[in-house]
Amino acid sequence: MTGNIFCIFAAMEKGTATVVKHTGSHYLLSCLPAWDPFPAVIRGKLRLAGSKATNPVAVGDRVEFEGETITKILPRKNYLIRRSTNLSRESHIIAANLDRVFLIVTIILPETKLAFVDRFLVTCEAYGLRPVILINKVDLYTEPELQDQLAAFKALYRGAGYEVLEISARKGTGLAAVRALCREGLTLFSGTSGVGKSSLLKALDPTLDPKIGEISLSHLQGKHTTTFYEMHPLTGGGFVIDTPGIRGFGLVDIAPEELSTYFPDMLRVMDHCRFKPCTHTHEPGCAVKAALEAGTLAPERYSSYLGMLEEEKKYR
Ligand code: GDP
Ligand code: ZN
Repeated sequence: MTGNIFCIFAAMEKGTATVVKHTGSHYLLSCLPAWDPFPAVIRGKLRLAGSKATNPVAVGDRVEFEGETITKILPRKNYLIRRSTNLSRESHIIAANLDRVFLIVTIILPETKLAFVDRFLVTCEAYGLRPVILINKVDLYTEPELQDQLAAFKALYRGAGYEVLEISARKGTGLAAVRALCREGLTLFSGTSGVGKSSLLKALDPTLDPKIGEISLSHLQGKHTTTFYEMHPLTGGGFVIDTPGIRGFGLVDIAPEELSTYFPDMLRVMDHCRFKPCTHTHEPGCAVKAALEAGTLAPERYSSYLGMLEEEKKYR
């Protein structure tokens, strides 16, 4: 067990490292860009000031350690957070210090719901992250009807101001562009289950295949540990984080009056609303509603906005 050999040295060491895996109350750290994962734990109540998240430390966090103990969490440049469950007031930090975020979606098998896409995008905007949308499984969209749906989806999100790429993890379509984007820094791969996140990671770097799930904390684990998120180095450079099983995406700490500012397509017109703040629902002289009527704001995006507004009110 290589981990144990390292521990002998780590026990005396002190330094700064990045969290590369989080399993229950245990962590693996690595002194990036070197890939040398070693185990660590947190003792006591170590938290970033003001954080309400259930996990005080997330994958991607830069920390100070002494031996096998994390002693300090360094300030984050950004992070992605979601509500733990739909009815919960608790939130969960998915990852920290990201250079980019990929949202992987599919038109069919499974169909990614626009409500999920929009929630995810709003959270990215609110936390200062630039998402890129990857439409996977384009090899399947051969019927004219599906091609129309693909074109409509692309137009919807390009129109909203997002970068949208078409890919096929299975056929290799579009992967060179994805690989080029990931080459530097830390990239988060997210999307609902079944859209092809693991297939995409394996296609980007075939050496990842056996590595996924390889980093073992078995000598540290109790019976009730759950694996959360995990970072992997790509052979071609860069690091990736896979996020299995994101089903819903609860918004965290977004006030109803600021929600529309996280829709780039609404943000670009709302300056012209007569009332400020404007909820863009019933106010006269609303520029957002005017854009909707003029066809420059997509009705799908506006209805996502209304849905989120309603839901946010429920939690307040
Ligand atoms: P994950 O849950 O997001 O990690 O999805 P997986 O990578 O496990 O893929 C789910 C299913 O979709 C598997 O049966 C894959 O073989 C399939 N799949 C993944 N990518 C593609 C693709 O580009 N085209 C097609 N046709 N199927 C794919
Ligand atoms: Zn308005």
